[in-house]
Amino acid sequence: MSHWISGYGSSSGPEGKSGSKGKVNSNEPTVLIIGAGTFGTSTAYHLAHQYRDPSKVTIVDRADSPPKPAAAVDINRVVRTDYAKPLYSNLAYEAWHAWYWSGELQQYFHKVGWIMMDDTDDSSLSNAIRRQFVDRGYDPTEDIPLEDIETKWDGIMKGTDLQDFKNAYFNEETGWCDAAGATHRFMQIATGKGVNRVSTDVTEIILSDDQSSVLGVKTADGKELKADKVLIAAGSWTSSLLSPLEDTLSISVEDRTENQLRAIGVLQIYYPVSSQEVQRLEKAKMPVVIYGQKGEVLPPSSKNKLLKYTHNQSFTNSVTTQSGAKITAPVGTAYKNQTDDIPDSLKSEAEAGVLSRLLPEFTKGKKPDHWRVCYDARSPTEDFLICKYPHKGVSNLFVASGGSSHSYKFLPNAGKYVLNVLNGKSNGKEKDEAWAWKEQGWDARDRTPEQPKLGAWAPKRDLKDVGTKSKL
Ligand SMILES: Cc1cc2nc3c(=O)[nH]c(=O)nc-3n(C[C@H](O)[C@H](O)[C@H](O)COP(=O)(O)OP(=O)(O)OC[C@H]3O[C@@H](n4cnc5c(N)ncnc54)[C@H](O)[C@@H]3O)c2cc1C
Repeated sequence: MSHWISGYGSSSGPEGKSGSKGKVNSNEPTVLIIGAGTFGTSTAYHLAHQYRDPSKVTIVDRADSPPKPAAAVDINRVVRTDYAKPLYSNLAYEAWHAWYWSGELQQYFHKVGWIMMDDTDDSSLSNAIRRQFVDRGYDPTEDIPLEDIETKWDGIMKGTDLQDFKNAYFNEETGWCDAAGATHRFMQIATGKGVNRVSTDVTEIILSDDQSSVLGVKTADGKELKADKVLIAAGSWTSSLLSPLEDTLSISVEDRTENQLRAIGVLQIYYPVSSQEVQRLEKAKMPVVIYGQKGEVLPPSSKNKLLKYTHNQSFTNSVTTQSGAKITAPVGTAYKNQTDDIPDSLKSEAEAGVLSRLLPEFTKGKKPDHWRVCYDARSPTEDFLICKYPHKGVSNLFVASGGSSHSYKFLPNAGKYVLNVLNGKSNGKEKDEAWAWKEQGWDARDRTPEQPKLGAWAPKRDLKDVGTKSKL
């Protein structure tokens, strides 16, 4: 079965069909978004506001809203403006404004501050971030002497192992958000305005016979969804979704998506806390705690009652596709794949690296409620990848991905910039260059002097190196 998406509103199909808000005559091109995580949801939200007929927009995800397998969906994500690069600091302030002030998002945001402990050799990371604040003309950070850490915040950090750390700073503006709630809310706003939300697995991208454009996608339930423009916002599945198309187009290894984005996995650990412990941590004003490059721990809420740790030692899952292409991809497509069968060696690493060392009072002698390997698409420079698919003259295929473990906070504003790319407009030289398809691909990493960054999340090993048989 094949159908044009939404209000039959293809520029080549019948026009003027009504959206959910009544009859609207519109020549707006139909848009099909694959993936309802951060980039897809944000784009749907902004299209819903820009389009006169939002029913011409369809967003597909394999899971219902909020899609649990997405990196965009979790009990919490950090919202910070602490960046070394002005581009992302500016962008983060723009997003922070929405998190803090907008009626749509402020209920999901908790401005608890963060303490950032630095374990880089020369404190280059915290220095670069704090210099960036000074250069902007407003510095919200303050030094926290390491010797004060165990006693500040009513002693909740007592026993934390600080031997690898050189210094620490506190920024009261940073906080965390309920990422499942906010993602769902943004989707509800988009669908409320008429955007179509479809829950199904996209199995194939359909090329036109002359290979000059894509017509749409095939889905697991045997349907075809067609549109004038197709945006791939499939996060860590972006490379695996585009790989068969790249086979058909005979795209060389160095020009493939895999050379722009790698799927990386990171282990998150969720400890149960009692209502009394939640109260104690709230009373102590527990901030987000960044444990240098090793990991982090986020405060619980009375709703989730979970203390969430992250162990930053990331990894890839290398697979060979049926056609022989070597790519990285998450293990499986379901949330269950992310929580089950986690290798014991990964758990032991997390135990030794973070769980026994950071706020140990809350982990000692306790068992986690659950573990999750969460995946994201990482670009060589940690920049987004928001661009037209550049190869073989395919005219209407676009990519918005490359979250690189830091992009959830841009839920409010990322889509605004994706829209410009969909409309063939520039986002300005700096953003266009940063978010473009990288000519040197993954090699750019070796050629670009790396900015100091938060977390050592660059993948240095593969799942098979930690004792697991890798699979798609
Ligand atoms: C462990 C971890 C911690 C993080 N912490 C933070 C943080 O504290 N702060 C922050 O700002 N950012 C954080 N991030 C980064 C942020 O979550 C991601 O950068 C962001 O969510 C990426 O958005 P995305 O849209 O590219 O992908 P996702 O959010 O993963 O969404 C992709 C969606 O595409 C769907 N999909 C894929 N393929 C198909 C298909 N074939 N058919 C149908 N649907 C499909 C998936 O189901 C999924 O819903 C973290 C990331 C990780 C992994």
